[in-house]
Amino acid sequence: MSSLSAEQLTSLRQQFPALHQEVNGKPLIYLDNGATTHKPNAVINALVDYYQQHNSNVHRGAHTLSDRATEYFENARKTVQCFLNAAKPEEIVWTKGTTESINLVAATWGRSNIKSGDRILVSAMEHHANIVPWQVLCEQTGAELQPIPVLENGELDMVAFESLLTPDVKLVSVVHVSNALGTINPVADIIRLAHTNGSKVLIDGAQAVAHWDIDVQALDADFYAFSGHKLFGPTGIGVLYGKEALLNAMPPYQTGGEMIEHVSFAKTTYNGLPYKFEAGTPNIAGAIGLAAAVDYLNGLDRVALAAHEDALLARANERAAEIGGIRIIGNAAHKASVFGFILEGAHPADVGTLLDQQGIAVRTGHHCAMPIMEQFKVPGTVRASFTFYNTLEEVDALFKGLEKAKMFLL
Ligand code: PLP
Repeated sequence: MSSLSAEQLTSLRQQFPALHQEVNGKPLIYLDNGATTHKPNAVINALVDYYQQHNSNVHRGAHTLSDRATEYFENARKTVQCFLNAAKPEEIVWTKGTTESINLVAATWGRSNIKSGDRILVSAMEHHANIVPWQVLCEQTGAELQPIPVLENGELDMVAFESLLTPDVKLVSVVHVSNALGTINPVADIIRLAHTNGSKVLIDGAQAVAHWDIDVQALDADFYAFSGHKLFGPTGIGVLYGKEALLNAMPPYQTGGEMIEHVSFAKTTYNGLPYKFEAGTPNIAGAIGLAAAVDYLNGLDRVALAAHEDALLARANERAAEIGGIRIIGNAAHKASVFGFILEGAHPADVGTLLDQQGIAVRTGHHCAMPIMEQFKVPGTVRASFTFYNTLEEVDALFKGLEKAKMFLL
């Protein structure tokens, strides 16, 4: 049973124009929300309004439009601050997305805090964006990157994690919700244990923010990263939350305009937070669009939306058991609405192509998480990732589509 009535769902779906189109002659069934979400009219209108009415560069104080753009841009930061329950707007740094947020921490905090002999822990279920920046840092510093093992059901091995937490671990960087498995990691416990050990913690929230409210203070996260486009906002904008004291102690990331206080050939001094990390003209429209997405979500009953997503996942599990021949990859007890699977005997890419012909958009492949694919001994999976605008009928259609694919491929 879904927590949303048919009328509520219809009215929600009306807010997302891209959902209402045909693909390959069939009504689009968009089940690739883990890759990116569609945008509600509120976000599209905010972008159009910005470019039509207020377009100007920020923080230049030169004229009325510039002042207005600055006000909207900084209000957007405050909107995100409240969304994450960060203590101050200065703790919200605009980036291009999760990838850049993690790279920023690796390049700045990492290079000034990690040295030879230190260790960094990530989980074995990480997206490449939370592996490669640390690998590069380790190559540069002589530190060691170590994966926290993942159990066969797709849950993090917390016993192994505790045993890996020795004093040389300076950072633990883990994904809140796995994009490949859907596992919801116990990040509050991870942070508590890591802090007891004296380690800092970065949480990759790319797949979490779309599902429920995040409270970085309650979690006590040192860093929290996410992307706007996975939260119904625009592409090219993301967020790095960092505790003020940590951000203050970090050197700048990129350099140039905006991030300086004073430049002279004798000595350049840097701007305060958060501008120290925002070199160059920022993605002003993106920030405003992301804030519009947050405002839109704040106007909805997010608990009911999450319950609806749980119902979608439960329906997928039921249908998978009915049609058979489906191996679900990731069976964690706490799972977001990410349904990754293998149709036994068929290559994921072929399944994806046949579904696409039926208007059903899923993602296939390694999902930028090759190590966990290797652990499960699969070349990749088919991933249906549901969000609140999906319907139970769409889940049923996915399995009808899979039955057709089965007839064709097996
Ligand atoms: N981390 C996770 C868990 C993701 O799912 C993704 C994107 O799929 C990323 C990081 C990278 O996000 P972006 O490409 O928006 O920087």
